[in-house]
Amino acid sequence: MSAPRWGMVIDLRRCIGCSACKETCIQFNDVPRGSQWRRVIKKGLAKGPHRRLFLSMGCMQCNVPSCVKVCPTEATKKRSDGIVTIDPDRCIGCGACILACPYRARSIAVDQPVPPLNQTPDIRSATIGTCTKCDFCLGRIGSRLEKDLIPGIDENATPICVWNCIGETLHFGDLNDPDSNVSILIRDNPHIQLNQSSGNDPAVYYIPMDAEELETHEHGQYYS
Ligand code: SF4
Repeated sequence: MSAPRWGMVIDLRRCIGCSACKETCIQFNDVPRGSQWRRVIKKGLAKGPHRRLFLSMGCMQCNVPSCVKVCPTEATKKRSDGIVTIDPDRCIGCGACILACPYRARSIAVDQPVPPLNQTPDIRSATIGTCTKCDFCLGRIGSRLEKDLIPGIDENATPICVWNCIGETLHFGDLNDPDSNVSILIRDNPHIQLNQSSGNDPAVYYIPMDAEELETHEHGQYYS
């Protein structure tokens, strides 16, 4: 079997805009105050049968990541499984990747995360002044190697936003496995990648609410 390429499918037909994905990401990952690794964009729709659109977005773990190309210190890299990482020890916080990312997925950490109750707020303080973003909860996916768990199926090997999505909107798995949950969703439903014209080939696919939305999403009008 080929090496995995981790990816996500977001079924917009099921999203209720509750932002559980965003909030659970902040909680689990100790996201620095002022940063957002996942956001839920909420827009009214002028036409079509649906009144509102909820668009959950994080780093797209692009196959051709603009951020990697512009990083002057090689702090940002793409792993063999497709996940794009940032080495805080190499990042100089120049912001070139922030400007290059067509999905606005990155931000400089300007403050510490909100500390857990009764704990000293020193978590990840080393990241202040560096760029941070979603990494598909890399630590959880890594746990599968030791415990033979299946990312996207087993709780402890699945990104926390996917596991805590109450609408079953977010799905995670191996895009290289034709029998994975995400490959089946892509195969069986009309789907798009946001802002295809960027050429980044993101590993996040969206199932739109209806076919009329396809063109609008492809051109990134809802999140630009
Ligand atoms: Fe890089 Fe942005 Fe693509 Fe993430 S979404 S891999 S930060 S270009």
